[in-house]
Amino acid sequence: MRLKRFDTSNIKVRSSGSGGRGVSIGKGGGIGIGTLILAAIAYFVFGADPMQTIGTIENAQQGTSVQSQSSISEEDICSSSAYATEACNALQSLNQTWEPEFRRAGIKFQQPVLDLYRDGRVTTQGCGSATSAAGPFYCPADQGIYIDTSFYDVMARQMGAGGDFARYYVIAHEYGHHIQNLTGLANQVRSAQQQNQRMANQLQVRMELQADCYAGVWAGKNRNLIEPGDMEEGLAAASAIGDDTLQRNAGQRVSPESFTHGTSAQRVDALRRGMKAADDSACDVYFDIG
Ligand SMILES: [Zn+2]
Repeated sequence: MRLKRFDTSNIKVRSSGSGGRGVSIGKGGGIGIGTLILAAIAYFVFGADPMQTIGTIENAQQGTSVQSQSSISEEDICSSSAYATEACNALQSLNQTWEPEFRRAGIKFQQPVLDLYRDGRVTTQGCGSATSAAGPFYCPADQGIYIDTSFYDVMARQMGAGGDFARYYVIAHEYGHHIQNLTGLANQVRSAQQQNQRMANQLQVRMELQADCYAGVWAGKNRNLIEPGDMEEGLAAASAIGDDTLQRNAGQRVSPESFTHGTSAQRVDALRRGMKAADDSACDVYFDIG
């Protein structure tokens, strides 16, 4: 995809990682412990148990001591690697694509913050801490999209999901969760899940598929920038991170009742639906449950 180079005056970027290579800075800020534990809800790009990957601030602070406290500019973070540059380019494009949609809908828009780190542990401002193993995720409490760029190597080498568009799909998916946060859908789903535990996973799957669909809408609205092979890369990535495929590849029994993100076929279908429609109302279908 031929995205324009980022302009850091247009995007919000930071790096809260610790103990890894590459971009690594400390944020220092003081956040109440209680808030973090309560707010430890995050949305991942593939099925992971948040309780395993998101710890509490107490755990996280052990890592803080190894953080360098030097402040790195947004420009430095975005230029620190080819992956980081791509992610910043994508963030700028996503902001430019979605902001007018919010304006049209009369909903207040706020840019998410892209938090890039590598091979380490990240201490979020609102969702506790996570290790690289968690994969990319969105934290609604601090509106952060957290990406360990080493995940892109895992995608390419271990999941057969390489290519720039596969990486764009990941950030566009997390951006989809940001949209759900701003529109209030995420809160509605959370209370529905609390009221009906049996539906909790199914509702989670719908949210994830809608985020995939929103990723597709972004691509569809930027069709002029799509290069040959992009669509295939995106669809291959969507297929590689379906719950059934992940369970099968991990040597586990495929158990639909434990799905949190949808099957490969559902994820491919959601991404394609968004791309084709290039209109976010096409993604309402996941919550037409009357
Ligand atoms: Zn997700």
